[in-house]
Amino acid sequence: MFKKFLPNEHVKSIFEITPEKLKEKGIKGIITDLDNTLVAWDVRDATPEIIQWFKLMEDSDIKVTIISNNKEERVKIFSQPLNTPFVYSARKPLALAFNKAAKDMKLAKNEIVVIGDQLLTDVLGGNRAGFYTMLVVPIVETDGKITQVNRYVERRILNWMRKKGMVTWEEQK
Ligand SMILES: [Mg+2]
Repeated sequence: MFKKFLPNEHVKSIFEITPEKLKEKGIKGIITDLDNTLVAWDVRDATPEIIQWFKLMEDSDIKVTIISNNKEERVKIFSQPLNTPFVYSARKPLALAFNKAAKDMKLAKNEIVVIGDQLLTDVLGGNRAGFYTMLVVPIVETDGKITQVNRYVERRILNWMRKKGMVTWEEQK
């Protein structure tokens, strides 16, 4: 069962994810989380670096959809200036929002990568829905209340997987 929590890849930040690397894998679309993946959970707007990253993807014909469990206002205010499709109140790890995003992008599952900072929502949801998953290091340590509980469970899963030798990405550091 723990295998569903294992990302296919682990990166330090979203900026390590480039169009070149994605194209090598045949990836044409990204489904990304918002809070602590693109910006810190308490940062309202996209940073210049994030704006640039979205532009880079657009110029490279890689579609991006933001899917977030956060509420409408937060996700809308962030996503609209980026001109990117978004899903709020996504209820990750349920597959619904992931599948809808894939359908709207008109891409096959093996052409999409799911990116996020949480095992229990982003990685589990992406894996269960049948996508390639990438875990990023959360931008900040602090979090909203529900996330704190998730983080506790997550740490326990990570420790267990580490003991079993299932966590291999730390060797890259
Ligand atoms: Mg997040």
